[in-house]
Amino acid sequence: MTTVAAYAAPAAKAPLERTTIERRAVGEFDVLIDIEFAGICHSDIHQAREGWGTAIFPMVPGHEIAGVVSEVGPGVTKYAVGDRVGVGCLVDSCRACENCLKGLEQYCLGGNVGTYNAVGKDGEPTYGGYSQKIVVDENFVVRIPDGLSLDVAAPLLCAGITTYSPLRHWNAGPGKKVAVVGLGGLGHMAVKIAHAMGSEVTVLSQSLRKKDDGLKLGADHYYATSDPKTFEELAGTFDLIISTVSAPLDFGAFLSLLRTDGALVNVGAPEEPISLNLFSVIAGRKTLAGSGIGGIRETQEMLDFCAEHGIGAEIELISAAEINEAYERVLASDVRYRFVIDTATI
Ligand SMILES: [Zn+2]
Ligand SMILES: [Zn+2]
Repeated sequence: MTTVAAYAAPAAKAPLERTTIERRAVGEFDVLIDIEFAGICHSDIHQAREGWGTAIFPMVPGHEIAGVVSEVGPGVTKYAVGDRVGVGCLVDSCRACENCLKGLEQYCLGGNVGTYNAVGKDGEPTYGGYSQKIVVDENFVVRIPDGLSLDVAAPLLCAGITTYSPLRHWNAGPGKKVAVVGLGGLGHMAVKIAHAMGSEVTVLSQSLRKKDDGLKLGADHYYATSDPKTFEELAGTFDLIISTVSAPLDFGAFLSLLRTDGALVNVGAPEEPISLNLFSVIAGRKTLAGSGIGGIRETQEMLDFCAEHGIGAEIELISAAEINEAYERVLASDVRYRFVIDTATI
C-alpha cells in the first residue's frame, strides 16, 4: 500500500479538505499513475453532497484523470513507465456480461465499479482523481495521445466521452443537423466534437449570453430557448438533439424541433420524473433516448479523435485549495467551461 495526499469530503455537504488515503499495492495487471490533472465534473458535487442518494465517506471525487504511468505490474502489456494516460468514470466491471464483451462496460449488467464512491472487487472503497496517485487495472486505463496536453485532456474522460458516444451512436456527421441544448461543461464539448465530425451545429441555450463563445467553439447557429419564436423557426429541423442540461425541459417542445426519425438524447437528467404526451414521438417516428458515458474502447477512440482534430476542453486551471470555491461556481454556472485541478498543489 502507498499513502498518498488527496482532497476529500469527510461527510456529506462538508467542505473538501486535504487528507491522505491508501492506494493498494500495484498488482499483476495494475498501473500506478502519477496524477497531474483532475477535472471537476458536476456529478462530483452531486455525490459529495449526497444529491444522488447515500454515498461513501470520506469521498475523494474525480473521474476526469490525466497523468503519467510511474510503475506497472508484471503482467501489464499495454502500458509502460512514462506513458501519458487517463482514467474516466470506471475502474472495473464484471468483464463477462454481454455488454462488457461488446465494450459497453458503462452498461455492465453485473455492475461496474465507479472510480470513486464505489466499492472495488477487493471490498475497499474507491477513491478518485483529487489525489496524487491512483492504481488502476490496465484494462480501464486509456492512452492520451501526444498531441493533447494533459490539462485540457482531463475533462475529455467524462465530459468528452459523454457527448462523443451519443454523437457517434446516432451518426452525427456531414449532412446532419445537430442541436446541443445547454452550453456548459458537457455542452461545450458536444459543440466541438459535433463540429469536428462535420455536422451543422446549433446551440440551444436559455439566453444569448454565451453566443460569441458558442460560435467560436464551432457552432454554426445559436438560439435562445427563452424566445418562443425559436421553436416556431426551428420546428422539424434537427436530425439529432443532445440535451446536456439537468433542469427539467419541455420535452414536447424540444421533440417538435426534430425531423422525422430524429432523436433527442439526454446526457443530463432532471431529478424529477417527466410527463410527456406520446404523440410528440409518434408523429414523425421520433426517439427520446438517453446515453451514459462510454466504454473503454470508445473512450480511446474519442481521445484519438480529439487529438486528430486538436480538440481539448476549455479549462480554468485551479489549485487544490480552490476546490470548494470552484464547486460553488459550478453550481452558479460560473465556469467557462471546466475547472481542472493541478494535483501538484494537493
Ligand atoms: Zn463526470
Ligand atoms: Zn459486465
